[in-house]
Amino acid sequence: MNWPSWLPIRQDLRSLSPYGAPQVPAQAFLNTNENPYSPSAKLQVAITTAVSEISSQLNRYPDRDAERLRSKLAAYINDSSSTRFTHNNLWVANGSNEVIQSIFLAFGHGKALGFSPSYSMHSLIARVSNTVWIDGNRNSDFSLNVADAISQIEINKPTLTFITTPNNPTGGAVAIVDIAKIADAVKAVSGLLIIDEAYAEFSEQTSAVTLIPDCPHVVVIRTMSKAFAFAGARVGYSVADPKVIDAMLIVRLPYHLSSITQAVAEVALDFKEELLAGVDAIIESRNKMIKALTGLGLTTIDSDANFILFTGFAQDATQLWSDLLKKGVLIRDVGVSGYLRVTIGNETENDLFISALKELI
Ligand SMILES: *Cc1c(COP(=O)(O)O)cnc(C)c1O
Repeated sequence: MNWPSWLPIRQDLRSLSPYGAPQVPAQAFLNTNENPYSPSAKLQVAITTAVSEISSQLNRYPDRDAERLRSKLAAYINDSSSTRFTHNNLWVANGSNEVIQSIFLAFGHGKALGFSPSYSMHSLIARVSNTVWIDGNRNSDFSLNVADAISQIEINKPTLTFITTPNNPTGGAVAIVDIAKIADAVKAVSGLLIIDEAYAEFSEQTSAVTLIPDCPHVVVIRTMSKAFAFAGARVGYSVADPKVIDAMLIVRLPYHLSSITQAVAEVALDFKEELLAGVDAIIESRNKMIKALTGLGLTTIDSDANFILFTGFAQDATQLWSDLLKKGVLIRDVGVSGYLRVTIGNETENDLFISALKELI
């Protein structure tokens, strides 16, 4: 970025650029891990009704602490993980990115550690909120080396340690027994372990929310953007010990979550069976896509999510990315040399991707 000299922008922000994938026209959008299934006609009606009901009260501020929505989210988590959380264990915001930002505002002192390659917003929000970020390592196959992760925690003593599972952009999940071992190491250095479970519903692994009752150092981040097919509504949340939630309340902006967002999120939770039914279809398409990619002689990284990282093509990743775009297929160049990431789309999009790829490699 070229900042003019009159602009008093912070020195440490001058070299940064805004996060985001290119927003360009395409026929197949397989770049941001969205769910390809749009809300059903029935859900659209329910959303419209909820918005219409709330519209007469838009002169009033929303429930500042979104208590009813937080209770519904607690019920959803309890249902899927056999836990006993209440709204006091939940925080909800405009996407899980806002939750991550609140975590840094409340706990961002000392160092934060993550294991690359992973979700780049963790390190970006660390930088923006003035927290030292340490880029830890993974195995060369992108799996997490648990013993090495623990020693990186012992050496750096981070206040915040981030693990994304299933990991984005690589797709693999970390077993709950390993998360528990890492949680012990984090506890020993008096830090918090932030488990970003944005893709949890696509995975068979036990959720790290089950560790929270015995280990208050564990904070789990979830989102309605992926499995719930609700990215446009911007709803993310965290599950944690009530004391962690109390700290999030200190740093949140008052009335951060609009009445409209709260109302439509509650409707989406009422439709959870219908919305989550798409997950099975996406997993089936993922397995089909892996077969198609390996059939083309490419190598895929095992994925527990709604995307696949692949390699084995002759050209440079950025070149193949732009050649695919010329054919109307938008995927993601995640900055891992020699690899590209494709989101599982609907059948038409997936077919378009595979046939375009066939012509290019
Ligand atoms: C997509 C994604 C998120 C962000 O989700 P929002 O709730 O839409 O802000 C968070 N973490 C990871 C790892 C993701 O891939």
